[in-house]
Amino acid sequence: MSDRLRVDPIGCQGHGVCAELLPEAIALDEWGYPLLAAGALPDDLRRPARRAVAACPARALHLDRAADSGRSAGRQTPPGVLTGNAQGGLAQ
Ligand code: SF4
Repeated sequence: MSDRLRVDPIGCQGHGVCAELLPEAIALDEWGYPLLAAGALPDDLRRPARRAVAACPARALHLDRAADSGRSAGRQTPPGVLTGNAQGGLAQ
C-alpha cells in the first residue's frame, strides 16, 4: 500500500496552504496552484500530508491509498519530479 496526493483541479482555488504545510511534496506554480511530487509519499510524510489535506480550505487536496500494482502506479516518473498542476498544465 502507498499513499499518493491528488488535487481536485476543479475545487482547488490556489490558496497555497498545502505547499506551506508540506513543502517536501508540494510546490506552487507561477499562478499559485500546487505541483505535486511524483510517486508515493514517503512514510515520514504521511502525517504532515494528512494535516495538509485537513487544512485545505477548498477540500481539494486528497490523500489516496492505493495498492502498489502496475495498474495503479500509472505513468512512471522519477521521485522528486513535479508532474503537473491543478489546472492540468505541465510542470518543468
Ligand atoms: S489544494 Fe487546497 S490548499 Fe492547496 S492550493 Fe488548492 S485549494 Fe489551496
